[in-house]
This record gives sequence, C-alpha cells and structure tokens, in this order.
Amino acid sequence: MAYGSEDHKRNYLPKLASGEQIWCQLFSEPAGGSDVAGLRTRAERDGDHWIVNGQKIWTSGAHYSDFGILITRTDPTVPKHKGLTMFILDMKSQGVEVKPIKQANGMQEFNEVFFTNVRIPDSQRLGAVGDGWNVSLTTLMNERLSIGARLATGFPELFDYCSELITADGPALDDRAVRSKLAHWAVKDSGLKYTSYRAVSALSKGQRPGPENSIGKLVAGSMLQEIAAFAMELDGAAGVLSDPAEAGAGGRFQAMLLSSPAMRIAGGTDEILRNIIAERVLGLPGDIRVDKDVPFNQIPTRGR
Ligand SMILES: Cc1cc2nc3c(=O)[nH]c(=O)nc-3n(C[C@H](O)[C@H](O)[C@H](O)COP(=O)(O)OP(=O)(O)OC[C@H]3O[C@@H](n4cnc5c(N)ncnc54)[C@H](O)[C@@H]3O)c2cc1C
Repeated sequence: MAYGSEDHKRNYLPKLASGEQIWCQLFSEPAGGSDVAGLRTRAERDGDHWIVNGQKIWTSGAHYSDFGILITRTDPTVPKHKGLTMFILDMKSQGVEVKPIKQANGMQEFNEVFFTNVRIPDSQRLGAVGDGWNVSLTTLMNERLSIGARLATGFPELFDYCSELITADGPALDDRAVRSKLAHWAVKDSGLKYTSYRAVSALSKGQRPGPENSIGKLVAGSMLQEIAAFAMELDGAAGVLSDPAEAGAGGRFQAMLLSSPAMRIAGGTDEILRNIIAERVLGLPGDIRVDKDVPFNQIPTRGR
C-alpha cells in the first residue's frame, strides 16, 4: 500500500486482503537478523530483470506462500542501509527452494529459503532502487504493531485457571501472592488493550505505524512467558505434564511456555525494540554503530 505501483496495488492487494493469496516476509538471513541491513542476498541487474542469489532464514509461512517481499543488496559499494532494494517475488519462480525448520514445540512454521539465479522482472520492484531500507522499515513497523495488537498474553486464561484451581493451601484465588500477580497483569493487560486501540485508530485516520508501536510486542511477549511460567509454578510437580489429557488447563500453559520465547524474537528482539523506543521515541543517545557509514564491501567480515 505504501510503496507499490498502481499495477501492484490493483493486482495484489485485493487477493492479499481476502486471504486468497498468502505472502511471506523474506528479510532475515544467517548474517542479518537484528541487523537486517547486514544482509547478503544479492540482486544484480540484467536488462529489465534482476538475478537473485543468496539465502533467507526463519521465513514464516514460506512453505505455503504465493508471494514474498524480498529485501536484497543491489549495491555493495555504499554503506549497508543505502544499497538495498525490495522486490515482490513469486514464490513459484525457478530457483527458489524452501526448506522447513522444525521447532522445539513440534511445529513447523518457518523455513530456510534459498535463491539460485532467480530472475525477477524490474516491474516487480517495490520502491526505488536503493530505497529498500525505508520500504523494510515500513513493513517492520506494521509487523510490530500487528504482532503486539493481536498477541495473546495468556491473562484471561490464567485468570480462569486460577478461579478454579485448588492448591495444597486452598483455592488459588485466596492466596494473596496469586491475587497480587493477577492484579499486576490485569493492569498491563488493560494498558496493552488501550494502547493497541490508540494505534488502530491512528491507522484508521491514514497514519503509518511509527516506532512507538514497538511497546505492544515488547510488553505482550514477556508477559506471555511470565504468565506461562507462573501457571507451571502453580501446577507444582504436575507442571511437567504436557499431554493435554493429563495436564492442567488441557496443557495450554505448557504449550504457551514452549512457544513464548519465539514471540520475544520474531519481528525484532526485546533488545532491539528497547533500542528503538530509547532512541526514536524517548530521544536517548543512539547505540554504537561502527559500520554505519562504511561501504558494505569494506566492512571486515569472515568469508564473504
Ligand atoms: C517465530 C519466528 C518467526 C519469524 N518469522 C520471520 C519471517 O517471517 N521473516 C523474517 O525475515 N524473519 C523472521 N524471523 C526472524 C526474526 O526476525 C529474527 O530471528 C530476529 O530479528 C533476530 O535475529 P537473529 O535471529 O539473527 O538474532 P541476532 O540478531 O543474531 O541476535 C542475537 C541476540 O543478540 C541481541 N542483539 C543483537 N543486536 C543487538 C544490539 N544492537 N543491541 C543489543 N542486543 C542485540 C539480540 O537481541 C539477541 O538476543 C522469525 C523469528 C521467529 C522466532
């Protein structure tokens, strides 16, 4: 919506919005996760096409996606944020290979994606040549807003669970320590709800999500993990059971505990979000970035 040509918008947005076509986000690489601008997937111009070679990793849904937005390095002779260009990639293109990654919770939601001489027409470029960093920032801000606004914190489930749970000391809700924890999370839960309403109403007025939206994912991600761990504590020794038929609350908190660390990494780690809030919302001094103004191909690395 922000960078596509009129043709892109007409061709892709309706089916994207209706869910008829699924898209993925091809950003992270083995050498470029938090430091997305350090990516090494190359796109080289060949007439009215680009030839792409390289690898992405952790690409959610790549195994069932029709299209992806792909950030590449098109100019290694300028500083890393300046030589990037974004493309719309048809995931069925020749030379695209998707390899699923199995997760600790038993699921297979993300992938490695390899590109070998993949040809992309220049008409599938998203934004100007060299402006990929700005395009990707728009994507990332939207991603953080959407993860933060929809991420379940586990609080309503924990409240229901505690309302019925009888521990060795009696009803869990009669325990002052339990009540104090629930009150603490109830306040955070409301804060998250109204913060996300504020962001959604700004969106409805046509504003683009800004760095302040990093707060939702940061707070919700750690809350989910703390709540799942607390439920395990309440369960005592029975907390090790993960079979839904045997475990308390149908094993919901065990599953939550296993998937919760991912929420503190996906879409930007806690540390990166704290840096963004510190620098771009609170105006505190910036992180040290020694390679910011160095041409990418002169940054010392091993084995490029
Ligand atoms: C469930 C899930 C889904 C994902 N889906 C996608 C997807 O669809 N598309 C996609 O492109 N990527 C996806 N990712 C990848 C995700 O964006 C990256 O994992 C994330 O940005 C972190 O990058 P990294 O794994 O390379 O870790 P690194 O960047 O190597 O970070 C390692 C550690 O160092 C810390 N660190 C790094 N830099 C700094 C700094 N400057 N200051 C302080 N601490 C720092 C980090 O916080 C982290 O703790 C997904 C990840 C997960 C877990």
